[in-house]
Parts: sequence; structure tokens; C-alpha cells
Amino acid sequence: MSKIYNLGIIGGGVSGAVMALQAAKYGIESIIFEEHESVVNGPPFCHLHAGGNLYPDITDEECRILMEQSIDMAKLFPQSIDERPTFISIPKSEKDYETYDIETRLKMLVKHYKKLIKDDPSNKILGEPEDYYKIYNKKELSLLKDLPTVKFPKTTDEWMSNTLQLVDIDRLKLPVFIVQEFGWNLFRLAAQAQLALIKTKKCDLKLNTSVTDIKDIRDENVDHNWEIQTKDASFKVKYLVNSCGFKTGIIDESLHLSTKRLIEFKAAYVSKWEPIGGLIPELIFHGKRGTSHGMAQLTPYCEDYYQIHGMTKDITLFKDGLVKSKKDEVQPRFNKDIRQKLNVAWEKEEINTRTENGIEFISKFLPSFETAVVGGPPMFGAQQIPGDNPDLRVGEVSFPEKSYARSEIVKASSALTVANQIIAQIQKEKIISSVEVMVDPNFTLLDIPKSEIDELASELTIQRGYPEAMSRLLISKD
Ligand SMILES: Cc1cc2nc3c(=O)[nH]c(=O)nc-3n(C[C@H](O)[C@H](O)[C@H](O)COP(=O)(O)OP(=O)(O)OC[C@H]3O[C@@H](n4cnc5c(N)ncnc54)[C@H](O)[C@@H]3O)c2cc1C
Repeated sequence: MSKIYNLGIIGGGVSGAVMALQAAKYGIESIIFEEHESVVNGPPFCHLHAGGNLYPDITDEECRILMEQSIDMAKLFPQSIDERPTFISIPKSEKDYETYDIETRLKMLVKHYKKLIKDDPSNKILGEPEDYYKIYNKKELSLLKDLPTVKFPKTTDEWMSNTLQLVDIDRLKLPVFIVQEFGWNLFRLAAQAQLALIKTKKCDLKLNTSVTDIKDIRDENVDHNWEIQTKDASFKVKYLVNSCGFKTGIIDESLHLSTKRLIEFKAAYVSKWEPIGGLIPELIFHGKRGTSHGMAQLTPYCEDYYQIHGMTKDITLFKDGLVKSKKDEVQPRFNKDIRQKLNVAWEKEEINTRTENGIEFISKFLPSFETAVVGGPPMFGAQQIPGDNPDLRVGEVSFPEKSYARSEIVKASSALTVANQIIAQIQKEKIISSVEVMVDPNFTLLDIPKSEIDELASELTIQRGYPEAMSRLLISKD
């Protein structure tokens, strides 16, 4: 008789991979299917949203959730966290946002961070709560302006003094801020997750394996509920987790389930630039998403590679890039042009044009950035947004049917929360007994040696066509 798995997970993105690893921690056997050759290869991520400071339009509650979830994920994948801060500013031309609102929110976040540390001291991964952010007015900025470059800044003032050598402060409302929202290296997370999935005996990892159909046998009164079909085999599972990313609706369609969702295609661009001889924080210039002055974001990587997001239709966003499900079609469909980019290749000319648009966009605030050049292929992908609110930033899980969970996270940081919610649900459905007694003493994700993560992250980065330097952290952790 073929094996029956407790959990069958479709999709090895950050959500599916974390689901399988969290299940392994509790000794729950799973099988995970990923149609590509490695895990965590879907839409990119580069920013740990530990406070939601990139999103002035979301609620305080969403900011607190993002902070909590980000801390949890950073504890799980420390080797993927780049501990450089983020510079937050509002251009003078921006009418919708005020620095006062940023300051009010930051004060609220410090209070929340203190509470999280009080609840569990291991939550202190963003530094001291008092240092979570620092405000810079005209006076403080003038004291830092002409200081020499610091190669590896250690204090917030050093990060700010390096920034001041490049940013045109006259274009920005004052004050400006430095916040302890860190970088998040997806290649390193992919490497740690993949190594752990291979190492644990509790998970059967099927790479290069596409799920083609699901057979629902819940009424047949047998020991399993679903049969997962691939091209040449069938696998029995008790509980089904759909973590197919923007393709979540395809599985729903095969199960005849209907629900509302959006899918969105976006891209960030890789540039090469040689600015000053010292590190800079991630730079954020706020702006209304989708307008010609949407948010500009510059993310530093190793060896002077810089990733650009510009929340305009000519850079990160695309015409018809946001698509809704229809009444009779729960899986939204992109147009031919976006499908071509997602599944085949980008035109070289469009890579150049969009990256150059991005360089020009950032140069408005960082004049010397105009010397940057295209540094690699875009980092792109499509993501799912459950429901019909395109501004939703906190992930969701739903349990539309018995023995079936649908993970639709909007930010990579929601993966662990969603995995824990699913584990609670499978206990409720009595698929497993209490997890309290099940923790597997032989499994810890944190046992994967840094050298192995370095090696696989480097391999994955090259395999996916990006500069190898992007697999490393700016601030290495030994
Ligand atoms: C440009 C951009 C920038 C972003 N930046 C950030 C950021 O800075 N911080 C952040 O937290 N989030 C960010 N996000 C969001 C983040 O990327 C997503 O929330 C996250 O990657 C979603 O993970 P997932 O596992 O749900 O989906 P995915 O990563 O899409 O994983 C789904 C997986 O399922 C597989 N699959 C699908 N169908 C099948 C099938 N039938 N059989 C087998 N396998 C299948 C796919 O190959 C894929 O690997 C960004 C998104 C974009 C587009």
C-alpha cells in the first residue's frame, strides 16, 4: 500500500516551504510539490517589513502585525536578514503624506516593539527599542553633513552621514528618518529552506514536479482525503495545503470552489553603481502608488549592486498588471504580454528601458545615481491578493472546505503565521494529535551551517541569472 502523508503542500514558495518546515518541527509528515528546480523562486522580496513603514496608507494594526510577523521570520532565517537600516523621507512635492504622520506611527511602533520584547526577550532582533528610529531635523542634519565617509557604518548617525553625501535633502520635507527595517535576502532564505527540507526526514521534497490535478475522495471513507496527481504518479494525503502563489485559483478551479482574488505582476530592477566608499541604508522616497510620483525605493546589495522599485506604470507597475477574478473564473488571467514575461522571457529592450526609467526616477533624489547602469535582469513575479482590496498588505489563510487550506500571503513575512494557523486547524480537525507533545528534537532549521547556506545561495543566484554578489549580505553574520 502506498504511503499516506498527513500534509500535501502544493507550491514551494516561501509559504509552502515554511509550512513544510514548521510541520517538520512538530514531527508532522508532509510532501511538498514545486514545479521549478528550487524552492522560493517566485516573486522577489528584499525588505523585511518590520513595522510597515513603506506603507503610509495601511492601518496601525496592520503595521503592528507586519512587525510581529517579520520578527518571527527573522528569527527563523537569521542568515537571510541584512541588518542595514532604512532611510524614510517624503518629497516636498508630495501632497498626500506628512512627516508628522510618520513620526506618530513610529512612536506607536516603539511601544509595540517594547511589548513584544516584554512578552519574549528573543524578539529583540531590531536592536534596542529606543533606537528603532531616529528623527533628523535641519540642525542634526547640518552637524552630520560634512563628516567623512564611513565604510561600514555602525551607528544611525553614520548611516545618515553617508546618506547625506548623496541625497538632495532640499527636495525633501523635514524631518527625515532612519528606521530599523532591515534587508531580506531571498536567495539566502531559499538556500536555508531548501537545505533544511532536504535534511529533514519528515518532508518529501518533490522539485521539478507540477501538480496536474487533485482527486477529492473525502466521501469514500478511507484513511486519506485527497489524491494529488502529477504527470506520472499519484500521492495520498490527509490534508491539502494550496500555496500556489498567484496560481492558487487553478487548484480552486479543479476543486470547483469559487472565491474573489486579485493577482498582480510587478518588477524591480538591478543596477550597478559606484557611489561612495561606504555603505548606505535602503532609501525610501514616499509617493502615491500608481501616480507618476509613486514611491521610489533603492535597495543596496553587495559589490555596488542596487535594486530599484518605482511605484509607477513605467517602472515597477504595469498596465493591466492587476487583474481580478471573474464570476465564472476564480483564477484571474494576465494578458499575453505579461504571460510572456512570466513564463518565457523579457525583451532585452524593455529591461533596458525600464531599468533606465528607474535610474532616472531615483536620480531626482540622488543626483549622482544618474551614472548607474543596468546590472542584471529584473527581479519580477506575480503575487496573489485575497479578496478585492489591492492595498491589503497582511497575509491570509482560509479554510474553505474540510481538510483544505488556502494560503494567500501578500508579504513573505506572513508565511510563518499562516503555517501556524494551518497547524492549529489540522489539530482541530484531528488529523494530528496535540503538537505540544510532538516537537521533533532532531530538527532545527537553525542547524544549517552558514557555509552551506553561502554555497547554495550563490549557486541559486547564478542559476537564476543574477550577479553572484546578490547572494551575500552587506553586513555578513559569522
Ligand atoms: C516586485 C515584488 C517585490 C516584493 N517585495 C517584497 C518585500 O520586499 N518583502 C516582502 O515581504 N514581500 C515582498 N513581495 C511579496 C512576496 O514576494 C510574496 O508575498 C511571496 O513571495 C509569496 O510567496 P508564496 O509562497 O505565497 O508564493 P510563490 O512564491 O509564488 O510560490 C508559489 C509556488 O508554487 C509553485 N506552483 C504553482 N502551481 C504549482 C503546481 N501546480 N505544482 C507545483 N508547484 C506549483 C510555483 O512554482 C511557486 O514556486 C514582493 C512581490 C513582488 C512581486
